[in-house]
Amino acid sequence: MKTSNLPFHERVDTAFQDDFLQESLKKAQEKFRTGKANTYKPLGDPERWRKRAEEIRKHTIDNLDYYLDILANNIEKRGGKVFFAKTAAEASQYVTDLARSKAVKTVVKSKSMISEEIHLNQALEKLGADVIETDLGEYIIQLAGETPSHIIVPAIHKNRKQIAELLSKVAGKELPDDPPGLYQFARKVLREKFLQADLGISGCNFAVAETGSLLLVTNEGNGRFTTTFPKAHVIMMGMERIVPRWKDLDTLITLLPRAATGQKITTYLTAISGPRSENDIDGPEELHFVIVDNGRLNAVGSKYQEILHCIRCGACLNICPVYRHIGGHAYGSVYSGPIGAVLSPVISGFDDWSELPYASSLCGACTDACPVRIPLHEMLVDLRHDQIEQKLSPVTERMAFKMFGKMTATPKYYTTGLKAGKTMLNLFSSREGIEGGVGKLKNWTNERTFPSPAPQSFRSWWKSRKKNNDVKEV
Ligand code: SF4
Repeated sequence: MKTSNLPFHERVDTAFQDDFLQESLKKAQEKFRTGKANTYKPLGDPERWRKRAEEIRKHTIDNLDYYLDILANNIEKRGGKVFFAKTAAEASQYVTDLARSKAVKTVVKSKSMISEEIHLNQALEKLGADVIETDLGEYIIQLAGETPSHIIVPAIHKNRKQIAELLSKVAGKELPDDPPGLYQFARKVLREKFLQADLGISGCNFAVAETGSLLLVTNEGNGRFTTTFPKAHVIMMGMERIVPRWKDLDTLITLLPRAATGQKITTYLTAISGPRSENDIDGPEELHFVIVDNGRLNAVGSKYQEILHCIRCGACLNICPVYRHIGGHAYGSVYSGPIGAVLSPVISGFDDWSELPYASSLCGACTDACPVRIPLHEMLVDLRHDQIEQKLSPVTERMAFKMFGKMTATPKYYTTGLKAGKTMLNLFSSREGIEGGVGKLKNWTNERTFPSPAPQSFRSWWKSRKKNNDVKEV
């Protein structure tokens, strides 16, 4: 799940220095947000839709074991195979064993965040298989040797010149940075790969328990090639990506493209129920559902359970002021933005993700944007609280806050502390304010000017007014 070994602050600094990234994030956020607002309008009261979507997700996750059981039975009835993977390693092992048993040489993939999460490509490549991402954005970042920087727009950080350079390497000649020409070239390369592929791997937007079906939401049609051409197809699914009935999908599919890209409807909605039957003219001969836990059960029954309601629309990224400035790679996780800042520590613990809950201004815009009403900003506060409870914050920070707590609880200490603080701050103040602090304080004052202490404190001003009878006691 980790996408970088660099420390968080270094990743953030790199993002800050990337002017192109800043510009493209701003444009993308504005485009998606306007699109979302326009496509929500015809729905009438969006709150009613959001509440209904929240109810569906809540009911499903409250009864997750029940619906997973129904799903697995129905997949098997239709001839599919089901494997429940507790860990990333188990999921990866299942797919690589399958690929090995079939002497797979070429694997085509349709966008799947869960396979990014478990590093499936690397495991298959170790077997010597040629693994090709077929979503155009994913294909571009695969050529660049990078990871997605947005849940739904993985190559949001690349411009057309960079894309032309990457595709030119595949072409073996220089390609002009003309988008239609680049699409055509990528299309031709990928079509050949679809025809060669012996294994297809796709993600899963929703699995429908009542019929054991997979639903894929795509805009490029690559999902249909991936799930139809190769003889074997593996569906990688996070265990929460399930709905009880087709009826429930109506609400979720109405909201998903609107919240994600501002589209009323996605270009392709592909439903797959079982492998090819006798009467089918195409489709895979074998269908495998790999249902992955990888830490998700940590959330079930906890105060973070609602994070499993997520439908991966990316709306929280598209509104977040922090994501807007640092982009996806700075989070260092496959999942970025507010959803990543909650999901990564919840499913994988704080060892690698202790900084992420702090990558937020706690403005609450993510919560307002979320089509299934996940209280993301409240969970970010809870995660910070958990770290304090578990004594994971630095000792110096804990000591400082302890002293601060004691000081503010005792008027005598508080008054003395204020005076001492003022004297200290004055040592670093210039006319403009405080621009260069010491130690860790520099992280703050290097980016913004901290105001100098006022010549007269509020308390002394209040005292003098009282003395002059300017203030009447109430
Ligand atoms: S948390 Fe909500 S807004 Fe963010 S990706 Fe998930 S469903 Fe979308």
